Amino acid sequence: MDLQEPVFTLDDVLWERLLELTGGEAALCFQCGTCTATCPWGLVRGETVSVREFIRRVQLGLEATEALWLCTTCAQCEAYCPRGVSIASIFRALREIAWERRETPEGLPSLLWSLYWNDNTWSQPPSQRAQWAKDLAIPVFDPQQHEILLYVGGAASFDNRVQKVAAALVKVLRAAEVAFGILGADEPPSGADVLDVGHRPFFEELAAKTAAVFRERGVKRLIALSPHSYDAFKNHYPFVSESFTPQHYVQYLAELLELGRLKPLLSLEATVAFHDPCYLARHNEELTAPRRVLAALPGVALVEMVHSGADTLCCGGGGGRMYLETAAGERFSDVRVEEAQAALAPTVGTPIMVTACPYCIVCLEDSVKARKMALTVKDIAEIVALTI
Ligand code: SF4
Ligand code: SF4
Repeated sequence: MDLQEPVFTLDDVLWERLLELTGGEAALCFQCGTCTATCPWGLVRGETVSVREFIRRVQLGLEATEALWLCTTCAQCEAYCPRGVSIASIFRALREIAWERRETPEGLPSLLWSLYWNDNTWSQPPSQRAQWAKDLAIPVFDPQQHEILLYVGGAASFDNRVQKVAAALVKVLRAAEVAFGILGADEPPSGADVLDVGHRPFFEELAAKTAAVFRERGVKRLIALSPHSYDAFKNHYPFVSESFTPQHYVQYLAELLELGRLKPLLSLEATVAFHDPCYLARHNEELTAPRRVLAALPGVALVEMVHSGADTLCCGGGGGRMYLETAAGERFSDVRVEEAQAALAPTVGTPIMVTACPYCIVCLEDSVKARKMALTVKDIAEIVALTI
């Protein structure tokens, strides 16, 4: 035996903890490595993110490497796993262990503190949350008068670019004569970012408070601007009420169009490449609603990119990556805008890349600007607003 070789021992306690946090899911992995080959990090870096490596490290009681925080929880790998492992959930659980051991990257604790003190991740005073709507005269949600609550979320409340998406959606809802309200400065956080960075106890605390607000305010039907908030409400929230129905706003717009309540009349003469947000297409298997909306718009032609639908390519903004530095040349969104340009190149009409997620909008538009591309990035709400 070579005495220089390190000797590893199994860490049953840590392994049991991972099994507990994943409901046994981690034990399903049989270390085949198929997922690793499909991870988009392979497109932008020499190495991919490997869930099996992190599982092995836990079994051996080793610290996770910094790469643990690279996962965008995009779930692209999950589609290829022969064991059906919920890999994004395993990454969240691995991160929960890292929080327990205080092994988190610089920047993330302050994100959580901002949510704790300000109810938002932008370190902005909670009183400013409704500033985006100050000239729009949107009423405060009243269950006696309103059919839906428009849940705007933190990005649309505080990010200048995403505020335009929220304003466009307001215009569309008004054109369809939807009775809706917002919670304004009282809008609570969904906690979706906390879920993705793996601080489950804090997420549960936030979710319980927000669910209580929805109950008190009599919210039955809610439409969320962000697929991340929608996913949190739909799949991870505690009981709100028997009739509580969260939807992503494109699902609601598809319904409005099909009911004839929303009537787009103006022709756009545009060709659009639709970028499916991971939290809509993969985490919630919603592939048709955005395409039904786009198909209903006069003068809009849809082209599909090389990765589309359930095989969409992540913009790079999920899993807390919006709040962590990504080196130039390692951004998924750079690859994605090139894919859009390639899909749109043979077409006529104004080339537009369309999506339906605040994080995607920000990441994709940053890449278009950095690469000085002749490509416009719009949210579906903005495209619909141009046709009414
Ligand atoms: S969830 Fe996405 S980023 Fe994370 S390991 Fe899987 S493919 Fe890679
Ligand atoms: S594809 Fe599934 S079973 Fe194979 S290494 Fe990845 S998680 Fe494990």
